[in-house]
Amino acid sequence: MGQRGGIDLGGTKIQAVVVAPRGAVLGESRLPTPTTGGPPDVAAAMVDAVRQAAEGAGVATSELDGVGIGSPGAVDDAEGTVAKARNLPDWEDAYPLRDRLAEELGVEVRLGNDVQVATDAEFALGAARPYSSILGVFWGTGVGGGIVLNKKPWLGRSAAGEIGHVVVRMRGRRCPCGRRGCMEAYAGRLSMERRARKLQEDGHDTSLFEIMEKRGRDRLTSGVWARALEADDSVAVELLDEAVAALGAGIASAQNVLDVEAVTIGGGMGLRLGEPFVDRIRAAMQPHLFVDSDPPAVHLAALGDLGGAIGASLLVKRSTRRAAGAASSERAG
Ligand SMILES: [Zn+2]
Repeated sequence: MGQRGGIDLGGTKIQAVVVAPRGAVLGESRLPTPTTGGPPDVAAAMVDAVRQAAEGAGVATSELDGVGIGSPGAVDDAEGTVAKARNLPDWEDAYPLRDRLAEELGVEVRLGNDVQVATDAEFALGAARPYSSILGVFWGTGVGGGIVLNKKPWLGRSAAGEIGHVVVRMRGRRCPCGRRGCMEAYAGRLSMERRARKLQEDGHDTSLFEIMEKRGRDRLTSGVWARALEADDSVAVELLDEAVAALGAGIASAQNVLDVEAVTIGGGMGLRLGEPFVDRIRAAMQPHLFVDSDPPAVHLAALGDLGGAIGASLLVKRSTRRAAGAASSERAG
């Protein structure tokens, strides 16, 4: 009793977990996200992932208290739909993801924003446990953010936390969002890859793409960046320096507005590059902090890869307890 399921729906993988009431992971599974077809194909893969995680935990999906989903795109929990999930195949219109999964799994399903639920997880169970107000920064393909204020998730009108699109340079580099000078245009893995290709085309010597091919990848993964950095590749060093500078300016700017107690750094790049880069980001924030005598704590996210799925599972508790926030109810319990 009291076991919950959680799914982190990502552009490359679907991570599912089954957790105990206090958050311990009892079963997990990871499946590649379908790259063709459409929402029904992705939903079917999500069902498979939850079934596998439940099997690992030794329970039937119908015995779970519920399943939470952390999804990209425009998430509407009231309607049970997800729209505009542009890193998923053919997913522009609103799709009734909640009811589709509830039908297949035989349990209540709740929807949340992927980055916000990962922040809730760090707040409830991870690196931000000691604090009341935090900013979660997820440095990966893009740069996402989640906010908890006074123990409650802050969603704004639904789009709060988009820290990747804080402007760090007026008329700066083009961002994947189409605007210019966003933090993500310098720090997002996708933007960094585009920049690396451009530099290589312009005649700069770099081993990044060789490392990528040797590792059998078709993109510059966080592991490729880490390896190139170890090899002191000058393009990798330069672009990671730029990324850290942008993260420092962007996070410090958000801090000047929110004045939270702590910042957590997660995401594929953040987790792979780890503590040395958390230290570098902390230092890069310092000159931009208005109250530089009292900087926020900056921590590496503690739940790693599973944070998103664990956070999604917290949505179930939120709904059954009718508490204001998953995080607060979790910590009170
Ligand atoms: Zn942008």
